[in-house]
Amino acid sequence: MSTYDVAVIGSGPGGYVAAIRCAQLGMKTAIIEKYSTLGGTCLNVGCIPSKALLDSSHHYEHAVKHFADHGIEIPGEVKINLEKMIARKQAVVDQTTGGVDFLMKKNNIEVYEGVGAFKDATHIDIAKADGTTETIEAKNTIIATGSKPSTLPFIKIDKKRVITSTEALKLKEVPKHMVIIGGGVIGLELGQVYRRLGAEVSVVEYMDRIIPGMDKALSRELQKVLKKQGVKFYTSHKVTEVKATAKQVTVTADDKKGNPVQFKGDYCLVSVGRRPYTDGLNAEAAGVKINERGQVEVNDHLQTNVPNIYAIGDVVKGAMLAHKAEEEGVFVAETLAGQKPHIDYNLIPGVVYTWPEVAAVGKTEEELKEAGVAYKSGQFSFRALGRSRASADLDGFVKILADEKTDEVLGVHMIGARCADIIAEAVTAMEFRASAEDISRMSHAHPTFTEAVKEAALAATDNRPLHM
Ligand SMILES: Cc1cc2nc3c(=O)[nH]c(=O)nc-3n(C[C@H](O)[C@H](O)[C@H](O)COP(=O)(O)OP(=O)(O)OC[C@H]3O[C@@H](n4cnc5c(N)ncnc54)[C@H](O)[C@@H]3O)c2cc1C
Repeated sequence: MSTYDVAVIGSGPGGYVAAIRCAQLGMKTAIIEKYSTLGGTCLNVGCIPSKALLDSSHHYEHAVKHFADHGIEIPGEVKINLEKMIARKQAVVDQTTGGVDFLMKKNNIEVYEGVGAFKDATHIDIAKADGTTETIEAKNTIIATGSKPSTLPFIKIDKKRVITSTEALKLKEVPKHMVIIGGGVIGLELGQVYRRLGAEVSVVEYMDRIIPGMDKALSRELQKVLKKQGVKFYTSHKVTEVKATAKQVTVTADDKKGNPVQFKGDYCLVSVGRRPYTDGLNAEAAGVKINERGQVEVNDHLQTNVPNIYAIGDVVKGAMLAHKAEEEGVFVAETLAGQKPHIDYNLIPGVVYTWPEVAAVGKTEEELKEAGVAYKSGQFSFRALGRSRASADLDGFVKILADEKTDEVLGVHMIGARCADIIAEAVTAMEFRASAEDISRMSHAHPTFTEAVKEAALAATDNRPLHM
């Protein structure tokens, strides 16, 4: 029987990064993945393919709507070849998952393909596709089994008409009318893809606003901009029934006043969140506690109730984000090596990759109000920047929230072009506990979108933006 210092179950961004860091720290490491490709949700059916389709559909939209403004004329009609677009997305995925294979080899990590199930706290059975089972021994195990799309109890996902994000990433036709249940990140990103490709898109959301976890100002602005792009929104609508025939889906919801409203479409994308995934893991054989939300229960060291078993990523509490899973993978590896790592969960940025992009880190205005923190706010619109005018990306703003007395930056919220990348500046500043004035005194290259961060910091410091 093969014996390891660490076995990692699941090869998503949490699991494969944990494995690499364990190997870097000199531990003999194995990784177990039930699918034939490594990389988990993120690389196969999550972050990477959704961004590939967002980019392709963005190019199409530019060609159809904006090239002419730039003096670029296309003779004839611009057409979509969806099959090719999806094939390109798959090529990007294959290249990226192949990169993880390479990293496993480079770091001498043993890869097992099969479903990992605990036999006891130090032994894992690996059920392989050929029907055989191999058992390995591991001094320590890291559970990184991730999550799966969740649904509502009365909705049957048939994967044809009533679909999850996984199917939405490989549709064979552009929907005529896609009804999206849930106005969160995944629904909005995929909704924008198909809207750009010509679908009518209706977003039905239970809460009174989209992207409910983010600062309210971002929800408002994103809804306004997406509405301009043709997405229809039905907030404060509670879905009560979803019925599908071979070609049509009918979604029934109660509106704000409790009156039933019907949406008829050819596809219904259910994007109401994701659930932690521990099916087939046989956690009880090792004595590992799963809580009532289905998450593997962990302490502040990401250690389960069984001392040699840890858990990370989507399968534990906290934001379901790839970079959060990665940080936790590194954290556990370094803990096992006897180090004292640290994660500041307040500084894990959240991003929506629609265009304009939405990004945030730290506290929202609502959270500061609720906590009774005295704060000041500075905001600057991208519209006022030369760079925005040059690329015709005028929507959005940067908002910086700083402590009223100390000027320490407490939260940064932005919507606009390239915000997914710009947010890194805010994370860096907050990691070093910068004040708004610190940011305002840093030189920001001109012309760039990042100048909005400097200007918002000037506005927050003492209300003296230079260009507004
Ligand atoms: C459409 C979509 C878009 C997304 N976009 C983003 C984004 O832009 N940015 C971002 O940060 N996050 C994004 N996410 C979320 C991100 O994908 C997850 O947060 C991330 O993948 C979690 O990583 P993980 O390692 O915890 O688990 P996962 O990536 O879910 O990986 C878990 C792996 O474990 C394997 N596994 C499970 N059980 C077993 C078992 N018993 N034996 C062996 N293997 C097992 C699974 O097959 C899977 O490969 C997106 C998600 C979706 C669905």
